[in-house]
Amino acid sequence: MFIYMSLNINNLHASVEQTEILRGLTLQLNKGEVHAIMGPNGSGKSTLANTLMGHPTYTVTDGSVTIDDTDVLALEPNERAKAGLFLSMQYPPEIAGVTMSNFLRASVEALTGEKQHPIKFYKQLQETMKEMGMDPEFAGRSVNTGFSGGEKKRAEMLQLAVLKPTYAILDETDSGLDVDALRAVSEGINNFRSTNTSVLLITHYNRILEYVTPDYIHIMVDGRIVASGGPELAKEIELNGYAAYHS
Ligand code: ADP
Ligand code: MG
Repeated sequence: MFIYMSLNINNLHASVEQTEILRGLTLQLNKGEVHAIMGPNGSGKSTLANTLMGHPTYTVTDGSVTIDDTDVLALEPNERAKAGLFLSMQYPPEIAGVTMSNFLRASVEALTGEKQHPIKFYKQLQETMKEMGMDPEFAGRSVNTGFSGGEKKRAEMLQLAVLKPTYAILDETDSGLDVDALRAVSEGINNFRSTNTSVLLITHYNRILEYVTPDYIHIMVDGRIVASGGPELAKEIELNGYAAYHS
């Protein structure tokens, strides 16, 4: 494994069907840092996440994304994952007939290129789930199928714990969660947090920021970062909303 130091997004422009959504976004994520991006609906937060992962709907028209010397934009989505990127989706897909356990094992094999012994993997997974306070039966359920909103997000935290990416991009991981699920998800993020990892926490509300304290907060409006600061920015948004940042 290489030791990656930072993810650099520079002057990123991206379009969906000829409409420019990201309009010159610049952001640097160093290892060990947690950044939150807050912004009103439609400001392009999910577009940023999807573009970083190489979703085919989004076309980059200018700018760059690099992990150290690696040109991320030249990589296929699976290669991006190998480079250490992880995206939790705002609306994760259901995969009927594939258990969480088999899904995670296949994911680890794809990432590392190493076969995982099914029984050993299952035991390790059960250990991890136990540490996370998850029901052992969860491993045998079909991926996201019939999961509650909270279960989907906890499944993502399990992915984080098992796949151990370097850069985790979490898109509205907090939306629609009750307090217990929010606590569990926040704990997952806080446990993932380390000097070797970096988190980009995308959120509409500052609720999750009561449980996960970011190092930096960025306000995104109309496809750009319009303000950056420390955790105090979230308080300001709570009081005044995004109105002051609209152009
Ligand atoms: P946010 O996550 O901040 O709410 P999005 O990135 O989802 O914002 O959306 C930003 C803008 O891009 C919106 O106007 C949205 O309609 C448009 N957009 C995003 N994804 C698509 C898509 N797949 N097809 C069409 N329009 C899209
Ligand atoms: Mg979104």
